[in-house]
Amino acid sequence: MDKLLSEVVKLSPVDVKFVKVIMNRPHMIGVYWSNRGPRKKSIAVVERLDIKLKIATLLHEIGHANCAAGGCPCAKVVSSGGELHAESFTLQWLLDNRHKSVLRMEMKHLNLNWPGIDNIYSEAYDKLIKTKLWKDCKRYVRRWWIR
Ligand SMILES: [Zn+2]
Ligand SMILES: [Zn+2]
Repeated sequence: MDKLLSEVVKLSPVDVKFVKVIMNRPHMIGVYWSNRGPRKKSIAVVERLDIKLKIATLLHEIGHANCAAGGCPCAKVVSSGGELHAESFTLQWLLDNRHKSVLRMEMKHLNLNWPGIDNIYSEAYDKLIKTKLWKDCKRYVRRWWIR
């Protein structure tokens, strides 16, 4: 898994840092810093995460960085569209590269953390679970408890 993590770090178009906490917000596990603020473009991921969640979180932030690098309109505003793109990148990469256990963990993480509260994540979740990608992922991981 450590090998997979370094492989994913290499996919990033921007610098990746592993940090103790992000902006003093204990619930934040990863962030992509665009250059709108004072920081240079980079990704930060919380270091204490379980290795699988760390890999998936890094992929998610790389998804945001790729959108920004490719001039995707989602990178201009914080929106459910951006979360949908970042997470689609994550799931697609894990599916294409056949990382079943990480994919399974990430889908479970999404099931537990994204729906419910009315915010950009639940909005993105509602869209994501209707995609062909989500169905393809479900078929691949084969777990009844994944919605
Ligand atoms: Zn995008
Ligand atoms: Zn995101």
